[in-house]
Amino acid sequence: MTELEIKDLHAQTESASILNGVNMTICSGEVHALMGPNGSGKSTLSHVLMGRPGYTVTRGEILLDGEDLVGRETWERAQRGLFLALQYPVEIEGVSASMILEASRLSQSGDSEERLQNARKEAEHLGIPVEHLSKGVNLDMSGGEKKRLETFQLASLKPSIAILDELDSGLDVDGLRIVSKRVEKLTKDEGLGVLVITHYSRLLEELKPDKVHVFVDGKIVTSGDSALADELEKDGYEKWIPSTETSVSLGGLV
Ligand code: ADP
Ligand code: MG
Repeated sequence: MTELEIKDLHAQTESASILNGVNMTICSGEVHALMGPNGSGKSTLSHVLMGRPGYTVTRGEILLDGEDLVGRETWERAQRGLFLALQYPVEIEGVSASMILEASRLSQSGDSEERLQNARKEAEHLGIPVEHLSKGVNLDMSGGEKKRLETFQLASLKPSIAILDELDSGLDVDGLRIVSKRVEKLTKDEGLGVLVITHYSRLLEELKPDKVHVFVDGKIVTSGDSALADELEKDGYEKWIPSTETSVSLGGLV
């Protein structure tokens, strides 16, 4: 049983404060959906949780089973069981998905032939051509192919908590179904805890959220069950955006 507890998290870049007091607790096997308007800070939250350079945590804690990750390197967070699927997966020349698996903690268990077989099976299930495993990660791949490869790494590395930033963007209908089913199965079989950032309730039809949070201006403004995701898809975020922001942006248009 793993618990990720985000407590009063504030973070900023050199020029602006982006996270303004995030509180959330994700336990093994739970799915939390984070939804919110563009620019509200959802990706920044994912980056700060994973320790991306360029952001300063000014207040709060990121506790993984009670240990504060603030100040830890990204690889240390990964080693402790945290995983991030990026909204915009980075292309890395010279480093393949197979190399990542071999370098991970998986390399300490089982024999390499067995690991190779498992990786091939996983790739086939996710509709990934086997040659994609041996070329540079994400190199010359379409948006949807990159998202499938992110899911492959998630399923193979077996982290305890995964943050999935718009895993659904760029995926075709079949890809969306396969990927969301695979993640749902990981929550059931492996007890994976998930924070899924998405704009669409479609992903949440397979990957059923225990909680849905609305994120505006760097913090959670309300939380509910899966019905909230349907409501947001129908009515948008207007109700949750402070009226001054709406009138300022409208004022800029008129
Ligand atoms: P979302 O994922 O909710 O669409 P982001 O977290 O990507 O939003 O961005 C939130 C806001 O923070 C945006 O206005 C964005 O321009 C700004 N921002 C994010 N990262 C940086 C950065 N490294 N430097 C400056 N501004 C940033
Ligand atoms: Mg984003």
